[in-house]
Amino acid sequence: MRISRLYLPSKLATGDTIDVTGDAAHYILTVLRLRQGYSLIVFNGEGGEFDAVLTALGPKKAVKLVIGEFRSTDIESPLNITLALAISRGERMDFAVQKAVELGVSTIVPLFTEYCVIKLDEQQAQRRLRHWQLIAQHACEQCGRNKLPEIALPLKFNDWLLQTRSPNRFIFHPDQAQHLNNLEIDQQQIELLIGPEGGFSDTEYQLSVNSGYCPVSLGSRILRSETAVITALSLVQHLWGDI
Ligand code: SAM
Repeated sequence: MRISRLYLPSKLATGDTIDVTGDAAHYILTVLRLRQGYSLIVFNGEGGEFDAVLTALGPKKAVKLVIGEFRSTDIESPLNITLALAISRGERMDFAVQKAVELGVSTIVPLFTEYCVIKLDEQQAQRRLRHWQLIAQHACEQCGRNKLPEIALPLKFNDWLLQTRSPNRFIFHPDQAQHLNNLEIDQQQIELLIGPEGGFSDTEYQLSVNSGYCPVSLGSRILRSETAVITALSLVQHLWGDI
């Protein structure tokens, strides 16, 4: 049976006993269905992971974990990839975030673009951010990553253009003839810019190119945004990373 992995944002040290309460305890008992004596792996995002054993069930469904051996396992990509992604509807965006994490993204920047159909006020944006962070956390637990990628608070497209600094910036656009495998990168830092279902407006496209993005194609078929995310990340990892 595969050992469950759990992200615990606390200080972890071999030999310590820690009390886990709230959502994490609920996740251990109800989702992972672990019981007294079960082993699991825990990590806190600072790098590496620990063995752990569930030793007791406390009052109010709290659980006690004894922290065991540390392993400095590091399966992070050698690339530092930022995915700047126009926000798509609910499940599609969730799917894109999950797959991007599995494929080794370092940062996700959700963007409001001209043809983006999602509008969020500040509170909704905060809630959505928390939701995507949870998806990213569970994706790390599932795929073995011990570092959580960063997810930024949603930004307006133009604001993002003003702050991005990546030396290798690619905008994915269906009308392009240029393919990633004909290009080179000069540093391990890469940014991928992917549009919403309605695509980028001409102005957004022109602004991106003028500010240094290299336009690239993912082939002659039009892919859904979430398919474009998976394809672009897989290609980049294959060409320059660890796939
Ligand atoms: N009609 C829209 C257009 O022409 O841009 C289609 C948008 S597509 C559903 C969503 C996003 O995925 C695009 O903005 C682009 O970033 C990316 N994409 C989809 N297919 C692509 C392709 N063949 N080449 C490059 N990028 C693509």
